Amino acid sequence: DSPEGRKMLEFRKSLPAYKEKDAILTAISQNQVVIISGETGCGKTTQIPQFILESEIESVQGAGCSIICTQPRRISAMSVSERVASERGRNWVGYKVRLEGIKGRDTHLLFCTTGILLRRLLVDRNLKGITHVIVDEIHERGMNEDFLLIVIKDLLPRRPELRLILMSATLDAELFSSYFGGARILRIPEALRAADFKEYGSQTRESLSCWNPDCIGFNLIEYLLCNICENERPGAVLVFMTGWDDISSLKDKLLSHPILGDPSQVLLLACHGSMASSEQRLIFDEPKDGVRKIVLATNITETSITINDVVFVLDCGKAKETSYDALNNTPCLLPSWISKVSAQQRRGRAGRVQPGECYHLYPRCVYEAFAEYQLPEILRTPLQSLCLQIKSLKLRSISEFLSRALQSPELLAVQNAIEYLKIIGALDENENLTVLGRYLTMLPMEPKLGKMLVLGAIFNCLDPILTVVAGLSVRDPFLTPMDKKDLAEAAKSQFSRDYSDHLALVRAYEGWKDAERDFAGYDYCWKNFLSVQSMKAIDSLRKEFFTLLKDAGLVDSNTTICNAWSHEEHLIRSVICYGLYPGLSSVVHNEKSFSLKTMEDGQVLLYSNSVNARESKIPYPWLVFNEKIKVNAVFLRDSTAVSDSVLLLFGGSMSKGDIDGHLKMLGGYLEFFM
Ligand code: ADP
Ligand code: MG
Repeated sequence: DSPEGRKMLEFRKSLPAYKEKDAILTAISQNQVVIISGETGCGKTTQIPQFILESEIESVQGAGCSIICTQPRRISAMSVSERVASERGRNWVGYKVRLEGIKGRDTHLLFCTTGILLRRLLVDRNLKGITHVIVDEIHERGMNEDFLLIVIKDLLPRRPELRLILMSATLDAELFSSYFGGARILRIPEALRAADFKEYGSQTRESLSCWNPDCIGFNLIEYLLCNICENERPGAVLVFMTGWDDISSLKDKLLSHPILGDPSQVLLLACHGSMASSEQRLIFDEPKDGVRKIVLATNITETSITINDVVFVLDCGKAKETSYDALNNTPCLLPSWISKVSAQQRRGRAGRVQPGECYHLYPRCVYEAFAEYQLPEILRTPLQSLCLQIKSLKLRSISEFLSRALQSPELLAVQNAIEYLKIIGALDENENLTVLGRYLTMLPMEPKLGKMLVLGAIFNCLDPILTVVAGLSVRDPFLTPMDKKDLAEAAKSQFSRDYSDHLALVRAYEGWKDAERDFAGYDYCWKNFLSVQSMKAIDSLRKEFFTLLKDAGLVDSNTTICNAWSHEEHLIRSVICYGLYPGLSSVVHNEKSFSLKTMEDGQVLLYSNSVNARESKIPYPWLVFNEKIKVNAVFLRDSTAVSDSVLLLFGGSMSKGDIDGHLKMLGGYLEFFM
């Protein structure tokens, strides 16, 4: 009831969503599924969960309701819960994301990532005690969100009092409504503040001529940023770019600019998915007086969040999108044009707290050609983890389950995923979970990484394997700045003795740990072109994975990380090989060098920062790799060379019968060890 409290209430009442409060609450009480759309900034994310909370608290004295509101990303779950908590004076509100969370006994409104809710469904099929599930930003159509909808649709008849609310500024309301048998649609009328929309005609065309997928118009961005700094009113600038690589190159470029690189005038920040959340959160801080904040971000800041002081949005119109070539069973990662919906969301990050402006760095004709919506993730990425999750929820046959999705994936993609899970030994011939498969469902990571951990635990070489798996789960810890590429690659190759990026990582990490003990971790990273953030992330992931393994019963509960390992290199290489199999390419030796081939793709190449790319010869017949990605050619990321004997023992010689034989043997092993 303080002056700030009253001011906050005034503010809340001024939002368009507030005027619809009664209509929204009535709709929710009368319908099991309600779909709510309304302009960005009208108050969906922050207000609607509160309306429900308040009306429930009034009606059942606070104890009855438990509302879960999912967000597509960690950063939005955390920042939205912070905002709502500050609007309410911290009562009732909490959040939960992997590794972090604030949740108390009096938490009745929980913001979490979709992944967290899915994990809860694993142990609690009926969501006992939950009264409302709100799925926010549903238009994004991530794999997890589509999966969640199938499961919840199944659940609704069993829990008639449960309420499902789907929200977005830009959703295809009819599609969702008909999926839920004609669910009620509510539209919140026009928002008060929408950003002005500036088109960048002539300059854009100029930059378009040098527009290629690897180069977004840096010069144009620099020019505009300069112009804003010199001529426009105060306010932060949010620049949407495609990925951390072009963010860091642009950042380097801007740092040497007389105005933009001058810390007394400009606070230059980055925000992308592979940064630690503590670092991401810096974008919400206000700069000193007279300093202009510029945030270079990927689409992780595209939805849900409000950066208070943003007045200008610069949208390059592209995003790195994963796609999946089912025919060749190869994932691709290419910058591509965004959808109209994304453009609208990006624009919506300005003009939220004060009038804003959005510059589209592409001409209108390009905008007109954007697809209306982005292709849902379930239709454009490999489905292995999803299929495993389906099995763990005991949801009948995988194909039958997926046929009930909002939009079903291609049959071939489903078959590939099932085939893969059979090859790695997670499913048996009848598509039932094997012992290994059951363990993998307890480890929330890609199946191959989970499998490496399981083997590391069984064969008592967990310490280095934890490092490998953690390293593969974070952004590449080996940095390669554009202008110091050679130095950086040379630094990495110091860690390599044996044709393995994975083992190089283990050595780099162990060196960092030693240096940390002498408080010299930063120096060590600086000298060796390593990312401090990634090293720290690896450190904490190792602990988390170790806990997961304990929870799954794979490690004795009184073991500590340090005494659970031996450094038998041959063994470690074998475990890596068995984990990554069938990600395998053969090494073909020529006179002076070598080339690589996989069965599906023919010739493939190594990323230049692989230690194996610096070798002229590889004295092994095979490379196992973590990931292959089609860009212009197919590239392998992170590889380890292995011998025939390792492959025979752990993977299989190339014949299918042999492979099955080995896997059966290993399946037997697993049964035996567990
Ligand atoms: P929507 O989900 O409809 O896009 P939100 O509920 O996120 O809208 O935000 C509604 C309004 O609340 C914003 O337009 C902004 O004015 C204000 N707001 C939200 N989050 C913050 C924040 N962290 N700081 C200041 N104002 C905020
Ligand atoms: Mg929102």
